[in-house]
Amino acid sequence: MQVTVNAPAKINLTLDILGRRADGYHTVRMLMQSVSLSDTVTLTTVPEGSVQLWCSRPDLPCDEGNIAYRAAQLFFAQEEVTPFSVKIDIQKRIPVAAGLAGGSTDAAAVLVGLNHMAGMPFHVQQLAQLGAALGADVPFCLLGGTMIAQGIGTELTAAPPLPACSLVLAKPGVSVSTQEAYRQSDKEGFCSAFGTGAVLAALQQGDLSSVAAAVCNDFEQVLQLESIQKIKAEMLRAGALGACMSGSGPTVFGVFALEEQAQACAMQLQKELQEVFVCTAQQEGCRVIKTV
Ligand code: ATP
Repeated sequence: MQVTVNAPAKINLTLDILGRRADGYHTVRMLMQSVSLSDTVTLTTVPEGSVQLWCSRPDLPCDEGNIAYRAAQLFFAQEEVTPFSVKIDIQKRIPVAAGLAGGSTDAAAVLVGLNHMAGMPFHVQQLAQLGAALGADVPFCLLGGTMIAQGIGTELTAAPPLPACSLVLAKPGVSVSTQEAYRQSDKEGFCSAFGTGAVLAALQQGDLSSVAAAVCNDFEQVLQLESIQKIKAEMLRAGALGACMSGSGPTVFGVFALEEQAQACAMQLQKELQEVFVCTAQQEGCRVIKTV
């Protein structure tokens, strides 16, 4: 049996850092949006070998170091499941360590695919609960669409969809450590912009311009990266209604009403950056797209 799963990336329309729990985890309030840029995860039953993983990016690990591998181990550790041997093939298109939940969505796709192969022992909500043990973004990647994420990012509530638009995603050459970014936000004097309320109100009105004008991310203030500001400025010059960094960065997204403007902006950015994509918002998370 072979099951192919589409694994979409996410962007953060907002990211408010609210505080830090006694166990060290940070509490956040975010508006998350699935996008059409995706990885493809194909799972094939094999005669033996428990879990084998192959990834189109040679710099990513193919063992327990890969979150998708750990997702398979977690799934097979459940008492509702009789383990079987499987080969996992990840075709990566989502930039790595980019604030786009690329690893989390691969893990979510593995859970969705294995659940399908095992005869659906779990509802999607149960899979989301399982997935939270792998990473805070995994439940969102499973459910997808437009959601408010709270707590450490795993408490999800549906939000109105992002109105139709084109999105440009551009990853600058800088690397951002999520842990270091949080450490910076712990410094005295940092205060959240609490931007989620305004974007949520704009989504409720279905008003793309107001949503785009209000997108915001506390990490942008924390990190103060010149390369981020430069890309944002270039997107706005090219006609974006708004632009913002996603997650803990460094990818920046721009919101465009017109696809032609988004394409022209991407072409311009591609002169300097290697990882630039034009995509759209989508209203679902990881889904089986083919079964053989
Ligand atoms: P998030 O937005 O959830 O914080 P991210 O987009 O910033 O995630 P990822 O692309 O998930 O970051 O990668 C984070 C790290 O996880 C990378 O340094 C990479 O080595 C590791 N990793 C393990 N498995 C994967 C995978 N399947 N895809 C991408 N990265 C992976």
